[in-house]
Amino acid sequence: MRNKRLNIIFIILFLSLLFFLTSQYCFAQQDDIKLKLNDTILKTNVSPVVVNGRIYLPARDIIESLGGRITWFPALKLLNLNLGQKKVSLVIDVPEAEINGKKVPLQDAPTIMEDRVMIPLEVVQLLTEVESEWNKTTQEISITSHNPYITSIRSYSHTDKTRIVIDMSEKSSYEVLILSNPDRVVVDIKASLSQLNAGQQEVEVNDLLVSKVRSGQFTPDTVRVVSDLKGKYESQVFDLSEPNRIVVDIFTPQKPIDAVVQTITPQETATQTEEKRDEKKNIVVIDPGHGGSQPGAIGPGGLKEKDVVLDIALKLRKILQEKGITVYLTREKDTDVTLENRPRMAMQKEATVFVSIHTNAVLQKSSSTAIGIETYVLNSRYIGASAKDVADRENKASQFYHYEDNVLNQIIADLEESASIGFSLDLADIVQKKLVQQTGLSNRGVKQAPFLVLKGVNMAAVLIEVGFISNPNEERLLKTPEFREKVAQAISQGIEGYLRNMPKNI
Ligand SMILES: [Zn+2]
Repeated sequence: MRNKRLNIIFIILFLSLLFFLTSQYCFAQQDDIKLKLNDTILKTNVSPVVVNGRIYLPARDIIESLGGRITWFPALKLLNLNLGQKKVSLVIDVPEAEINGKKVPLQDAPTIMEDRVMIPLEVVQLLTEVESEWNKTTQEISITSHNPYITSIRSYSHTDKTRIVIDMSEKSSYEVLILSNPDRVVVDIKASLSQLNAGQQEVEVNDLLVSKVRSGQFTPDTVRVVSDLKGKYESQVFDLSEPNRIVVDIFTPQKPIDAVVQTITPQETATQTEEKRDEKKNIVVIDPGHGGSQPGAIGPGGLKEKDVVLDIALKLRKILQEKGITVYLTREKDTDVTLENRPRMAMQKEATVFVSIHTNAVLQKSSSTAIGIETYVLNSRYIGASAKDVADRENKASQFYHYEDNVLNQIIADLEESASIGFSLDLADIVQKKLVQQTGLSNRGVKQAPFLVLKGVNMAAVLIEVGFISNPNEERLLKTPEFREKVAQAISQGIEGYLRNMPKNI
């Protein structure tokens, strides 16, 4: 009886071993599989793999070849892919993808083969419109992409300028036509409109200069984007990369072309920009977080964030004004200010520096040990989000973290047009250093990475968390006028240091 059972176990073991060996053998055979992207053979570090008819592609090779970005966090086994406006987060061996925050089940999980991250073909199809074909006889995988395509159309209204931004999946050629009766600016782009739904194809602007922006598939490979103007205005169309976009600026005739437009010819503009800055005074916009019906975080002793940050902001204004710097506050009293109006003010005042002041907090009582100062660079949501994802994931797990996602995200989104990441990082570094030096609180560092540089715009924007109101010791400090004065002095020194060393060429 026992022998028989042993025999069966041996047979099973033998069969498993055989299966294991043959499947290994299948893998080894696959070194010859070729990957073709839009009819060109793609040189990859590892070959694609076909397992039971399912195609796995080397993640970095395919995503970067499609014009996307990949960020790999080995410790978390987390993979973030960005292509156009789409962002997909994946975890190795988990058959699930998070697309722009939404979870979607996958048939196959991403995996690691020969030390390389491999993604199932379906992930690529989630990111972009592709057709694929697996030819067993020639051992070729062909992928045809429908790039380039328009990923979104946005507009920004100013008193004397309207900016239309056409986000592209990749760089593409375009032609501009200026038409009158009625006045319009037409941009014909070699691209597809297939990724936008009807609602996204038309943008209602209705500001002083532009009534709306319409788009349509003009020919099979050309999209026509029409900006309907409210009169005869000047326009300037140029393209930017990382991320790829075509910018249409409409402005009133008397207005000189501003620095943003001139970035397309950087050599010519450097001196003009410099002159412009020299004659212009530095303007600082200080944004005390929350206010009015929004108390922000509340400490264990009842101290409210909105009160602390307003007092620091008022002190900071005084210090900066005494040094001849023009300062505006988004609020001067305990009043409600919408999130949109905060960065809007910075843009309207053409600020050189935008500083949003907050106190940090953790939600759990048990986590009142979190301490220290951190400064956030207001990065674009496009790539910066991946850094936040990691922070969120890690910190949610340890339940040791909280920051005002919505506040930050909203400000980031609204500042996207104007914040310069390069300058913001410079400012963040120096402010963080001064704060840590002067307050003696622990250094939690500058958060968010400078993945995206919006060229040509020179506002440095940071969000500062001046200690944890949820920590009894730091709450006690935040209560005292002396500490608030120290914080204000440190921030002002940071701002002054930044303004002194502000790069002249952009
Ligand atoms: Zn806050």
